[in-house]
Amino acid sequence: MQNPSGGLVAALDIGGTKIAGALVDGSGRLLVRARRATPAREDAATVLDAVAGVVGELTAAAEWARVRAVGIGSAGPVDAAAGTVSPVNVPGWREFPLVAEAGRLTGGLPVVLVGDGVAMAAAEHWRGAARGRADALCMVVSTGVGGGLVLGGRLHTGPTGNAGHIGHISVDLDGEPCACGGRGCVERIASGPHISRRALEGGWRPGPDGDTGAAAVAAAARAGDRAALAAFARAGQALAAGIAATATLVEIEVAVIGGGVAGAGEVLLGPLRERLRDYAALSFAAGVEVVPARLGPDAGLVGAAAAAAQRLGLWEWAPDR
Ligand SMILES: [Zn+2]
Repeated sequence: MQNPSGGLVAALDIGGTKIAGALVDGSGRLLVRARRATPAREDAATVLDAVAGVVGELTAAAEWARVRAVGIGSAGPVDAAAGTVSPVNVPGWREFPLVAEAGRLTGGLPVVLVGDGVAMAAAEHWRGAARGRADALCMVVSTGVGGGLVLGGRLHTGPTGNAGHIGHISVDLDGEPCACGGRGCVERIASGPHISRRALEGGWRPGPDGDTGAAAVAAAARAGDRAALAAFARAGQALAAGIAATATLVEIEVAVIGGGVAGAGEVLLGPLRERLRDYAALSFAAGVEVVPARLGPDAGLVGAAAAAAQRLGLWEWAPDR
């Protein structure tokens, strides 16, 4: 992607724990940053005040004069067509008109909204592990499981900005009810909290610090704890089934796995790759590669900027191969 104009995108990454912002240039660099904790239990206006605080820091920067657009990646569900967000972990925001509010806060700049999984996919395609790939699924495995798709060399957002939401594909037909209203979803098995829960149910016990997070389960798995290994094996299996379904449906060449739980590395990726052979059986799906994400916590910001730039034709969209 070239950026002859020197224009910047103001990117916002809105999640249940933090609201991050940055001014992003045409090579994916973050020039100015701002950040607030998300007042997730407060009312709609209080959450918006936190967004306004982040935007205020960005608009105060000298570089603001070069900003041409706003890109927002938000925890979902989002409705990009309506310009609204209803993040599961921010109950004060239900069909909250974030696009209109962001436009108002930024003096009428064009605003592009996508789900956080779609933003991560945009980032990994532009600057990360899916660079140069025409067809990819990028996933965030964390407190939840999200994702986004690149198809035919372009980000595929879907009409509402939620396409690729692999966390809520059912991989266990009669499985446990999921918070989304479905049943047996990938997220219900492969998210950090559910890996921890399964390990505890299987008899794993945390160390003296009482940490039951997925990273602690991963450490126990590396040390050979059977319940911890079984929890990661089950998570890997669920992810494999979801990836295989995606590969069979739309033909992807690579699945990129990011998010905090992906920090478990081979404890997760080993069983995932093994089980993928069971599920991605047809010749055109069998070759799908599974690779770790390359961008860290900044992926949401980089991706929100990329999604906006691509949608608006702001920068010449030609990812170098
Ligand atoms: Zn679900």
